[in-house]
Amino acid sequence: MFYFVILGIFSLIGAGVSSRLKSKFNHYSKIGIRSGMTGLEVAHAMLDHYGITGVKVVQGQGYLSDHYNPRTKTVSLSPAVHNGRSIAAAAVAAHECGHVVQHDTAYNMLTLRSNLVPVVQFSSKIQQFLFLGLIVGMGSGFGGSTLLLVLVATFGITALFSLITLPVEFDASRRALAWLDASGVAVGTEYDGAKDALWWAAMTYVSQALASLVIFLYFLLSFMGRE
Ligand SMILES: [Zn+2]
Repeated sequence: MFYFVILGIFSLIGAGVSSRLKSKFNHYSKIGIRSGMTGLEVAHAMLDHYGITGVKVVQGQGYLSDHYNPRTKTVSLSPAVHNGRSIAAAAVAAHECGHVVQHDTAYNMLTLRSNLVPVVQFSSKIQQFLFLGLIVGMGSGFGGSTLLLVLVATFGITALFSLITLPVEFDASRRALAWLDASGVAVGTEYDGAKDALWWAAMTYVSQALASLVIFLYFLLSFMGRE
């Protein structure tokens, strides 16, 4: 029961943070930058500056769906970022290129995060089965503390992954802002706006990490209470 209360509280926090991010993004999407560059141009300029070749920048679909895929070496920018000539577009494009620079320089947190991806995928797959198994098992009087221990471990893996994501995201934004400022692509109030928008993007990761940490601790404590 308590588990669902936690889930509810963190869903509300998550929804609040993401609606704040959306309103910031929409606000800064309406403010142009003096350099007049599109997100695509910003991305190419930043990659050129770091002498990075062999990375594609493509237009993706959707809203706030921007990401960098290290496996295919592709930066995917949402249409509003790819074609936008705004503070928001420049900020997001530079942030994604921040991930490219992390990849190019083998930034240790990104490497660690990438190595964890298959583990997390496997863990979330078995998590669903364990959950079902436990619910069915409890009804029939079967405790299954090994099952519960493995379930706790899967929540631990999710929490670890979302915590490792934080330095990766903050570092990408730090690199983006440093470059936007040094290159003169977004300076003064433009820079402040980019910083504000990227801050709220980072907060969505913080709220996810907090939620997964609290859920892990909840399962860990309830497991220890049973023993
Ligand atoms: Zn990112």
